[in-house]
Amino acid sequence: MKYFLSILPVFLSLILCHCSSSDLKITYIGNEGFLIETGNKKILSDALWGEMENTAYEVPSDSLTALMREAKAPFDKIDLISISHKHQDHFNADITLAHLLNDPGTRCVAPEQTAALLREHAADKTICSRIHGISLPPFSDSTFSLRGIDIRALRLAHSPYMETDPQSGLEVNRHRDEVNLGYLFRVGNAAIFHGGDSNPLDSSGFATFALQDEDLDVAFLDRLFLFRGETPQMIMQRYIQARHTVFMHISPANAPRIAPYFKDDSTVSVFTAPLESITLKF
Ligand SMILES: [Zn+2]
Repeated sequence: MKYFLSILPVFLSLILCHCSSSDLKITYIGNEGFLIETGNKKILSDALWGEMENTAYEVPSDSLTALMREAKAPFDKIDLISISHKHQDHFNADITLAHLLNDPGTRCVAPEQTAALLREHAADKTICSRIHGISLPPFSDSTFSLRGIDIRALRLAHSPYMETDPQSGLEVNRHRDEVNLGYLFRVGNAAIFHGGDSNPLDSSGFATFALQDEDLDVAFLDRLFLFRGETPQMIMQRYIQARHTVFMHISPANAPRIAPYFKDDSTVSVFTAPLESITLKF
């Protein structure tokens, strides 16, 4: 009995440690920006931007941006900054570089065309060794590890934005040259997918990457997956199959209208305010 009592605290702490490392906390920053915390790791995904006016998406406030620039809690000791692409509602070079300066352990992963912008603007070039640019042809992927996080980067097409070319009069896709990466992060027991601005009609792209075999705990998907009909529904059910889905890139005006549709669905989250958070247990 005495022996049992002496090992009981160790046994309990092992159980408690196991439970806390299986929690996944997601904090909304704005648009497609999130702080993801699990297994003692912190990831900032498409979060380091702001200092602009726009009503089409939730822009991080100046006070929130200042905390991220200065790497102050809860944005301290970030393991990984991931950037899906260089559009201004996902990425700001100045804010990202400030964070990298103030958080010396942080690594940053981005498409090479975004990483090149960071290197170009870096006043302190020693930061560049922590910036990992990924070059991938369409429909290809690569796997690597940074700071104990296993990462699979997927070259998923950006959603098209069609407009009329003034010279030719033809419809052209304004985003045709934008390199967008989706990322699968494995941290401890958790499998997390962030799709950036991936095209919800790109069934061949999602079929190629077969995320359904990755046993995803959570997928972060553009709100267009909700609004583009049967193909996105098929992609989510056949090629993603996440236990939990966070719909993102929702305007501040629309979020309070969309969130009630999912109030009784524990497998879906729609955030309506910055710094709102959820904790998933698995
Ligand atoms: Zn974009």
